Amino acid sequence: MSFRGWLRSRYSPGMSHIELRGVRVHNLKWFNLRLPLGKLIAITGVSGAGKSSLAFDTLVAEGRRRYIETFAPSARQFLERIERPEAESIEHLPAAVAFRADESFSARATLGTLTEIDDLLRLLFARLGQTFCPQCDSLLNARTPADVCRDVTLIPEGTRFVIAFPAEANSRETWQQLGFVRTIEVSSALWVVVDRLIAGKTDAARLLESVEQAMQHGNGQCVVLSELPPTSVMSDTSTKPSVRDIEWDGRRWQPTRYSWQRICFDCGIEFPPLEPELLNFDSPVGACARCSGSGTIEGQRPTKVCSECDGSRLNSFARTVRVATEGMSLTRLRQGPISAVSDFVRQWRSDLAEEELSLVANLFVEAMSRLQVLMELGLSYLALSRSPQSLSRGERQRARLAALLATRLDNALYVLDEPSSGLHATEQPRVLEAIQRLQQAGNTVIVIEHLRLFIEAADEVIDLGPGAGCDGGRVVFQGSVAELSQCAESLTAEFFRRRDQQPNEALTPPSWPSSWLKLAGARQHNVRGLDVEFPLGVLCAVTGVSGAGKSSLIEQTLYPALCQQFGMACSIEPVGEFSTLTGTDQIDAVVFVDAAPIRRSSRTNAATMLSLYGEMRRLFAETTEAKVKNFSARHFSFNSADGGRCPRCRGLGSIEIEMQFLANLSVACPECHGTRFQRDVLDAKLRGLSIAEVLNLSANEAFTFFRGQPKLQRRLKSLKDVGLGYLPLGQPASTLSRGECQRLKLATLLTSSSRTRTLFLMDEPTAGLHPADVVVLVQCFRRLIDVGHSLIVIEHRAELIEAADWVIELGPGAGDAGGRVVFAGV
Ligand code: ADP
Ligand code: ADP
Ligand code: ZN
Ligand code: ZN
Repeated sequence: MSFRGWLRSRYSPGMSHIELRGVRVHNLKWFNLRLPLGKLIAITGVSGAGKSSLAFDTLVAEGRRRYIETFAPSARQFLERIERPEAESIEHLPAAVAFRADESFSARATLGTLTEIDDLLRLLFARLGQTFCPQCDSLLNARTPADVCRDVTLIPEGTRFVIAFPAEANSRETWQQLGFVRTIEVSSALWVVVDRLIAGKTDAARLLESVEQAMQHGNGQCVVLSELPPTSVMSDTSTKPSVRDIEWDGRRWQPTRYSWQRICFDCGIEFPPLEPELLNFDSPVGACARCSGSGTIEGQRPTKVCSECDGSRLNSFARTVRVATEGMSLTRLRQGPISAVSDFVRQWRSDLAEEELSLVANLFVEAMSRLQVLMELGLSYLALSRSPQSLSRGERQRARLAALLATRLDNALYVLDEPSSGLHATEQPRVLEAIQRLQQAGNTVIVIEHLRLFIEAADEVIDLGPGAGCDGGRVVFQGSVAELSQCAESLTAEFFRRRDQQPNEALTPPSWPSSWLKLAGARQHNVRGLDVEFPLGVLCAVTGVSGAGKSSLIEQTLYPALCQQFGMACSIEPVGEFSTLTGTDQIDAVVFVDAAPIRRSSRTNAATMLSLYGEMRRLFAETTEAKVKNFSARHFSFNSADGGRCPRCRGLGSIEIEMQFLANLSVACPECHGTRFQRDVLDAKLRGLSIAEVLNLSANEAFTFFRGQPKLQRRLKSLKDVGLGYLPLGQPASTLSRGECQRLKLATLLTSSSRTRTLFLMDEPTAGLHPADVVVLVQCFRRLIDVGHSLIVIEHRAELIEAADWVIELGPGAGDAGGRVVFAGV
């Protein structure tokens, strides 16, 4: 069943709520919950409270499982082990469509593919496009017998003409035996005559019959020869005479060749069928052969634009396809701003003849509505060819939302993870409106949100908590926003109340910078020759609408400039230019912390990130059991192949099932039952616990467990300091919530950067964080500053900007309207 078809079939009219009973996924504490269908629901709570566990790992996961169940049994056989989310029952669940903030994109994705506008344009170009010879650029048309007859009526009355077809040079006898007695020898080919006629004195039915016969025998090709002089042939301007005039039967003739394929007779080039695939750089049919459709040639650095397709990613045939009176190519359309695409598409449509339009009217409607959504979300200045990786976070967020809105379903469940993330205050209302429209179209929309604007717009708020991990996982509050502020236990409510009571809450006075870093002549994208002074020894926030140039300035110019200064390798690409950078003598190192906080690998966890694991393994190697069995520290590693890890899952505790049509599924390893180790390794006990059990300890528990081990305890303390005391040491980083990742990274920075004066550059460190989490984060920042470090963070959240000692705002607008400093100060 198609996904869309399935979505429709899931609709059960008359139900008012999704009913969840006994939910206990991850840290969720066995609760019942009723979620109103057709409403906008906000799930709130501190980071680690269980928001994603409820929204994604319960609702979306169950939706996906049920979808897989509809597959034929043969396709399902290896899916038997997909576990149900741990819940007693989930009823009246609509089909779920999910949007996760940190989801990665295929390297080949573009804004156009993401929003499916590319698919629509391809269909339109395939239906309405004109093709040209890639070598001589002459128009190539596929001609039907009727087209040929129409041309023939243009031959002046009284002129003799001949209908023939091309055949193999040595096939004369064969054709003569079949009754075609007349043939014309032309250089290397043979034209076989079907009929000889006189213009204006010819029966239309006979003409058509002859042309059809010629094209049939000629494999789709025919030749019309008209006598010269006294008059030359007037033919359709698009069909140029292809072979010079010839002599035959004592007369001079001008031949015109036709084919029902698209063929350039001059260059001997046959154009492949004009189908949507030909215009698809993701398909072998359409991709440029030189760069395999990537548009760039890799291997060298910096990556070069492919010289064959000039970055258009398409092969020479596809590149010639043009539409509308102005001869627009798909490449040119993809590279222009969305506002221009929209104008063009509208004009194109209105210029079409009625009968042409009737076949493609729906495609135009779909394309225009998607372009409209992108413009409403404020992205009209972007090009469809832009890859999501090259977009700023806020742009990317909205692009993805646009793609989701474009699905235009009803009666579905949409689950959105922090849609406000990366958005400047001025951009938030539009995004909220788009989400509200989604709900008004008859869908249930769940947003995981921290932003008050979005929470207040919700019909219902579900606050999870009160704390994180095992201190969370309960429904602290469910009801309207108005009721939420009365709820005593909710941290979210507490923050609402606090801001209401003291809108100008006395903040600690800002610290004064210890020195300045001066960057002059910064140049990248829309940043054109900018001089900026960055304060050191303080918390500096860089803000501005998305597309203002923040990443271009900080990540792509300042950071590489500093790397160059300190002789460090820099992985950023592309790199911006600058003229001078002074003041670097006041720092010793620079670290860039990007928005995806740590590589979410199943092989990293808090124990490995904080370098606790090596020490732990050493302690285990010293146990009696280990000595008896001759186990070294290596045996207690789940990462080393020749140690004691489970061979089946190679120490991961789970195995991945590959699925062609959906993301991979992960199920518990049937061999070690998720413990990651071989049996006898687990027999070695340290103070009564096996290595697997120690990895299951939370940082708080481990702190007590490792008493008398100051080195371990100091590192564990930094986990507690960033608010991760509850986190199990061995929990794979791939399963951490975003806030948890962010803090884990900070904890490692706290333990590792004690002596050097480091400048930390961060991209949106508050992404995914509750206001209560932001308070903890700022405390961690203060700790870093107290020991002599500096921080420059790209941020949109008011909580953090208010806590900053210095603010630099870029803008005033996005793209060309940005790239300048509009404010710098306290
Ligand atoms: P939130 O979305 O509210 O930030 P999550 O739902 O992601 O929180 O996580 C709730 C708790 O469950 C966290 O402590 C997290 O570490 C834990 N958790 C999430 N996924 C897994 C998993 N696959 N295995 C074990 N624990 C998990
Ligand atoms: P911000 O970080 O403030 O959101 P960026 O620095 O990412 O903004 O982008 C500034 C401008 O430069 C935007 O208009 C953006 O679309 C453009 N831009 C960014 N990356 C690229 C790129 N790879 N190619 C072309 N334009 C880009
Ligand atoms: Zn040609
Ligand atoms: Zn295993």
